[in-house]
Amino acid sequence: MGYASYTLPDGREGGYAVDAECDLDDCTADIDRGLGYLCGQNPGGHPFGCGGYFCSEHLWLGNVDDGNGGVRWSPHYMCEPCVDKWRAAGGPEDPDDID
Ligand SMILES: [Zn+2]
Ligand SMILES: [Zn+2]
Repeated sequence: MGYASYTLPDGREGGYAVDAECDLDDCTADIDRGLGYLCGQNPGGHPFGCGGYFCSEHLWLGNVDDGNGGVRWSPHYMCEPCVDKWRAAGGPEDPDDID
């Protein structure tokens, strides 16, 4: 326990008890700021996670087109700009392997 709400590195309130809207500008889908809506692995961000919170329509997980005609398993939820960065890096399945 203790993760229901907390302060994010950017000063916003995070946690699954926090009602929020998708961070995409034009999207007003209701979400919470739990890990199930987080882009990346940690609220503080990640090489391929911006730390934003997005609705399920704007998060990618699982088999994602790697941009080179292949499909790779995404390491965690990613929003669209982060998917682009991940593709540009070759679609690593474990982002901790890269510098
Ligand atoms: Zn992102
Ligand atoms: Zn959305």
